[in-house]
Amino acid sequence: MAEDGLAKFSLRQNVDLMVERAFSVLELDEGLANAIRACQAVIQLTFPVEIKGKVEVFSGWRAVHSTHRLPVKGGIRFAPIVDQDEVEGLASLMTYKCAIVDVPFGGSKGGLKIDPRNYTREEMQRITRRFARELASRGFLSPALNVPAPDVGTGQREMAWIADTYKQLFPEDINYQACVTGKPVHHGGIRGRVEATGRGVQYGIHEFFRHGADVKEAGLNPGLGGQRVVVQGFGNVGFHAAKFLSEEDEAKIIAIVERDGFLFHEDGINVAQAREYLTANDSLRGYPDAEFCEDRDLGLEIDCDILIPAALEGVIHSENADRIKARLIVEAANGPITFEADEILKKKGVAVLPDSLMNAGGVVVSYFEWIRNLSHIRFGRIERRFDEMRGQHIISALESMTNNKVPDWMRSEIIRGADELDLVRSGLDDTMRLAYNEIREQKLTHDAVTDLRTAAYVIAVRKISRSYLDLGVY
Ligand code: NAD
Repeated sequence: MAEDGLAKFSLRQNVDLMVERAFSVLELDEGLANAIRACQAVIQLTFPVEIKGKVEVFSGWRAVHSTHRLPVKGGIRFAPIVDQDEVEGLASLMTYKCAIVDVPFGGSKGGLKIDPRNYTREEMQRITRRFARELASRGFLSPALNVPAPDVGTGQREMAWIADTYKQLFPEDINYQACVTGKPVHHGGIRGRVEATGRGVQYGIHEFFRHGADVKEAGLNPGLGGQRVVVQGFGNVGFHAAKFLSEEDEAKIIAIVERDGFLFHEDGINVAQAREYLTANDSLRGYPDAEFCEDRDLGLEIDCDILIPAALEGVIHSENADRIKARLIVEAANGPITFEADEILKKKGVAVLPDSLMNAGGVVVSYFEWIRNLSHIRFGRIERRFDEMRGQHIISALESMTNNKVPDWMRSEIIRGADELDLVRSGLDDTMRLAYNEIREQKLTHDAVTDLRTAAYVIAVRKISRSYLDLGVY
């Protein structure tokens, strides 16, 4: 799904070229580097489905990049332009991402060549179920081996169909719900998964802004409030990131770039309203409270503080990298900056928070969902009331010792037991903070590492190569 064929290298080549920098910093043995680079398995599926009385043939792929940890994990995208090379590249990115955020999975990715907008709900259900059956019958869908999740063009609805198809095929598998993540909560999903990737983007940006030196180096003013933000892609990831940043951090979303143009308002756009408009009209054109411009490419070049590409790969390339005016680029999408553009941005001094960290929120919360499914219990179910009771005892003890009443607001804060959403957010925030700091530390302590992306890959490759050597897979 690279943008308009402007990228010189494919997504997979771009990822490999970027990881190459880490291989060279670590002076990795060439054979081991080749083993890490290689995609271990990929399956192409071609299957017929009857649509409106006619047989249509669909093609899909599922790539498994590395099985050094099992299961392997990665989204399934439904898009008109998807191919084997893209799926392999995205699978490798998943391996590195999981290693960076310490999620014990290998990397995988799937894709089905389809434009979901051309089919009814019932047709999509038949196509998705057939794809799931093909994957499961070949060992590419299983709680122990390969666990998909939502990506571009898929969401809770598709994940519920996939889980149900697997259950019908393997009713004796007590862990059937764990065969896929990103399910609706009432079908074994976890609270906070839908917005997890956008939430992770927000937490990653928070951590960046906690480090004054990083903010200064990027040429930004301290504090997230008032920063002018441009978001490209107003789907699951872009919408949630924009919503949280504007509603909770008071950042100004001055432009939203979509497939047919972009919205602009210097004072900021109301994100929830714009999203409602997009859902109702399938376009942002005609939205009353901001200017609409048809040239979507110009949207990326707007003068802003933070640019968040959250649509597809290869959108910042050698042709437009020089014209990017943002001081900070936050990669919410996978692979939005090509290798060549990355080099140009580095020379320009633009700070880049890499995809391998910034969009990891999805897989982190998917990991929580998978654990929830395997343990067959909602997080917080057992301890919540006990924690509340203990909080109540602490307050009673305080009051009797001081002869003073604890104010109501403090009482409710102290006695509140954490529910599932609190725990998911806490786990995600902790993961993003720890990973950012590990990457930052790597950059600061290694002369040959001059950017956060290379630092992240150095950490990932170090962990993966250790695992390959320990296990003797090499
Ligand atoms: P989505 O399908 O929900 O949204 C994508 C949005 O981008 C849509 O609104 C679409 O109209 C828009 N778009 C398409 N082409 C565009 C273009 N040329 N210019 C501007 N906008 C365009 O997909 P998503 O789940 O939000 O995923 C977006 C990116 O984030 C992808 O790179 C995906 O791999 C990555 N990602 C997603 C998740 C997740 O949990 N969904 C997790 C990690 C990474």
